[in-house]
Amino acid sequence: MEDLEQFRLDTREWLTANCPDSQRQPITPEQQYWGGRKGSFPSEDAQTWFERMRDKGWTAPEWPTPYGGGGLSPQQGRVLKEEMKRIHARTPLFGLGLWMLGPAVLEYGSEEQKQQHIRAIVNGEHRWCQGYSEPGAGSDLASLQCKAEDKGDHFLVNGSKIWTTAADRCDWIFCLVRTDPDVKKQEGISFLLIDMDDPGVSTTPIELISGESEFCQTFFDNVEVPKENLVGELNKGWSVAKALLVHERKLMSEMGSESPRQVLTPNEAAREYLEFEDGKIADARLRSDLADYDMLMQAVALTHFRTFEEKAAGMRSAAPMVMKYVGTEAEKTKSELLLAILGSRGLGWEGDGFTEQEIDTLRLWAMSKAMTIAGGSSEVQLNLVAQKILELPQP
Ligand SMILES: Cc1cc2nc3c(=O)[nH]c(=O)nc-3n(C[C@H](O)[C@H](O)[C@H](O)COP(=O)(O)OP(=O)(O)OC[C@H]3O[C@@H](n4cnc5c(N)ncnc54)[C@H](O)[C@@H]3O)c2cc1C
Repeated sequence: MEDLEQFRLDTREWLTANCPDSQRQPITPEQQYWGGRKGSFPSEDAQTWFERMRDKGWTAPEWPTPYGGGGLSPQQGRVLKEEMKRIHARTPLFGLGLWMLGPAVLEYGSEEQKQQHIRAIVNGEHRWCQGYSEPGAGSDLASLQCKAEDKGDHFLVNGSKIWTTAADRCDWIFCLVRTDPDVKKQEGISFLLIDMDDPGVSTTPIELISGESEFCQTFFDNVEVPKENLVGELNKGWSVAKALLVHERKLMSEMGSESPRQVLTPNEAAREYLEFEDGKIADARLRSDLADYDMLMQAVALTHFRTFEEKAAGMRSAAPMVMKYVGTEAEKTKSELLLAILGSRGLGWEGDGFTEQEIDTLRLWAMSKAMTIAGGSSEVQLNLVAQKILELPQP
């Protein structure tokens, strides 16, 4: 415990000395640094901050030091997070490599794969995207059809992936491919790493209702992928995929607290936008909804804490399985509550008639709905809870 206190003091001192003032401001989506060959730093300070954190291994604080990570224990990692939060230090590097692929390669990858990819992720050299979903395989992911044929020294990949977030800005894609069509669907899937610059890989942006394009459809047309890019065993990719999904779902359960958009909390919004009578919110319905929300958030925070403590104690816990559902639904509840509080002030998508905060509130509301779908929809999460935790019979 004493060591942890000393670590906290040292960390505080280091962060104070090394985190530029401009990097202690709330981050916006435009100021996030995602690394990769096509990435650029939003500012000189962002670059300085990234390089200092990288040199300490703190872009991936809990990963092993031989691959460039910080080698911190989960407890130290938590202290670092708390100390960064205390001074509002920005996250220096974002990415699916850090959040999802890295942990999967550390668990299932070969030594060569770790040498090749882990340090490149820590150093922000490679930006990764996720090639799971297909037009006919979303919730029923195991139905995927994108195929990889064994051609001796390489796999020949043909097919397509959809909803590949930022594929047009990424260097590598981690992909689920069908390597055996003649067995139970989960048993014929493999996990492949594909360089987006390989001949035959192309992306087409999918335009959203906003006119923006965050997603792509990704096509593989006779792409030759070296055999050494297979992670785990041939036809056993489903296990790697599921392990990676656990990381994705954990991340998404915590997304709200990490949100780059600067919206008010419901209580702050209530003070700013609602009428009060005798020190109480006049609208009884909103007053009650706010109280419910406060209790919900306390329960979510305590469950997060329990998950962390159980993990740190080496215990197996069912809590992570419910957290994606609980965390993303709680964010949706928060956004709906905020819009109810803002009333017509919460209807602005763009333009001078609304403050930036009001516009962000509406955008966050839309995003909160997307988060209950991405990484496995809420309905599918509930099915998993029913089957794996409650052990209810299959319908
Ligand atoms: C913001 C965002 C980012 C994404 N990024 C990526 C990415 O980078 N890479 C990637 O591969 N994919 C990505 N996705 C895709 C995501 O993984 C899928 O959207 C998700 O798995 C759901 O699949 P689907 O869209 O095909 O919906 P469907 O599976 O068609 O589901 C449609 C509806 O039916 C319900 N449903 C389906 N099956 C059942 C069932 N058995 N029981 C009850 N209800 C059911 C669902 O809950 C949903 O409401 C992203 C999605 C979003 C929203």
